[in-house]
Amino acid sequence: MRRSNQSLLSKIIKERIDKLFELAEENIKKHPERSRRYISLARKLSTRYNFRMNKKIKNRFCKKCDSLFIPGYNVKVKLNSREGIVEYHCNCGVVKNIHIGKKAKKA
Ligand SMILES: [Zn+2]
Repeated sequence: MRRSNQSLLSKIIKERIDKLFELAEENIKKHPERSRRYISLARKLSTRYNFRMNKKIKNRFCKKCDSLFIPGYNVKVKLNSREGIVEYHCNCGVVKNIHIGKKAKKA
């Protein structure tokens, strides 16, 4: 790939990944298998084209089973406000910690 095409390419990849996440969300309840495949495709795209997913996207799915996180549906959300962490407990057993930051509070 030519260097001049790089930014155009990453724009296309981003759009594709966004679309795949959209599809994954639409299919999660009726077709969970399909939904997982969309996530896995999005991840493959990002690896193949060296496209870095931002944190917002990364925090939306399980790295182990490629499930899109739907709080209250396939993932239990626990808030650990003392540590400033939201814990996502996936159905596959993986716990993902998402740091939301501690509130500065001195005891
Ligand atoms: Zn999982």
